Amino acid sequence: MTEASTPIPLPLVDPPSAGPPLADSTRWLPRARLQHFLDAIIHAGFELLGPTVDSGAIVYGPIREVADLPVGWTEVQEAGRYRLERRADDRCFGFTVGPHSWKRYLFPPVETLVTGQRQAGVWTFQESRLPAPKQAFLGVRGCELAAIGVQDRVFLQEGQCDPGYAARRAGALLIAIECTQAAATCFCASMGTGPECGPGFDLALTEIDHGFVVRIGTPRGRDLIEPLDLQLAGNDEADSAAAGRAQAREQMGRTLATAGLREGLLAQLRSPRWDEIAQRCLSCANCTAVCPTCFCSSVVDVPSLDPDTIERERRWDSCFQHDFSWQGGGVIRQTIGHRYRQWLTHKLATWHDQFGVSGCVGCGRCITWCPVGIDLTVEVPALLGTAVTAGDSA
Ligand code: SF4
Ligand code: SF4
Repeated sequence: MTEASTPIPLPLVDPPSAGPPLADSTRWLPRARLQHFLDAIIHAGFELLGPTVDSGAIVYGPIREVADLPVGWTEVQEAGRYRLERRADDRCFGFTVGPHSWKRYLFPPVETLVTGQRQAGVWTFQESRLPAPKQAFLGVRGCELAAIGVQDRVFLQEGQCDPGYAARRAGALLIAIECTQAAATCFCASMGTGPECGPGFDLALTEIDHGFVVRIGTPRGRDLIEPLDLQLAGNDEADSAAAGRAQAREQMGRTLATAGLREGLLAQLRSPRWDEIAQRCLSCANCTAVCPTCFCSSVVDVPSLDPDTIERERRWDSCFQHDFSWQGGGVIRQTIGHRYRQWLTHKLATWHDQFGVSGCVGCGRCITWCPVGIDLTVEVPALLGTAVTAGDSA
């Protein structure tokens, strides 16, 4: 783990399980039995959510069968570019991350907080508490597991605990997939979050040619697969899985040097580079919508056509929106350069002060889904004056 990502303790409410994988915990799931595994999750009462192909991308949605997974698909990612391609094999998880993250289930884009009703001229308000869903997230990558850990530090702090997040988080079963390939936009190895999964998963699967090596992270994960009566994974399977993860690390298309990053960025608050980035940035907020750790929201009152009812909603918002920094009668961050600077320095510098970890886990989504291809792994070295030029690399 890098110096910049060393967590400081924060008092968390209901901290997620974070111990090392249980001893004697590696099992072998043959590919032919994957459907049995999915059935076991569903029969245990979970709504099973996982990767699926929709509208030309791999997104997260309901899964019931192996055929719902992106079998035989992979993706090509670059700054501002994403496209699906057919694989030469039938791997179910032969890709990395798409535009969705698990944030959309734990911290939904729109959530009703309060409903109001007027009767006989008197308004009464009620907190809206839907029963917490029991959901299984299939295909949580190492960087995404780390991102959930980051959001835990935001939403589960003692004294500031978000009850809706806490309930959804407690009900979520985390089934990780350890990456055996990386996209050109990935840099989780730099951030110490992947490709191997850190603590926090219930089960972690590594896909190899003829099946999956399964690591058990929690008693809940063990209980889930116990009825399948899986054999222990053999040395050959374990070695293949380790080789796959090593391959992903080698394929990683980008890096970000984290040593001294906080201090370096905060020393560049007046750099002309912010204005140069602002010439390209559209302030569209795509990067914050796809980021698995961004948590900005606004609260809005939503009237209805019925004049006797009203709802108060929390909606995702973004520090890239012009009026997001409205304070005391004015907008604090007037220019796009100010807003990009706020986003980047919060992610990589002041997040450490606030939450004790980096706000970036190296998933690369903000690079891929930026319509003009702004790439923080390029902008950070440029800001710090450490960018490699053509002559330097010779
Ligand atoms: S800042 Fe970009 S690379 Fe980092 S976690 Fe967010 S989307 Fe992923
Ligand atoms: S950096 Fe890219 S994705 Fe983010 S607001 Fe600017 S143009 Fe949009």
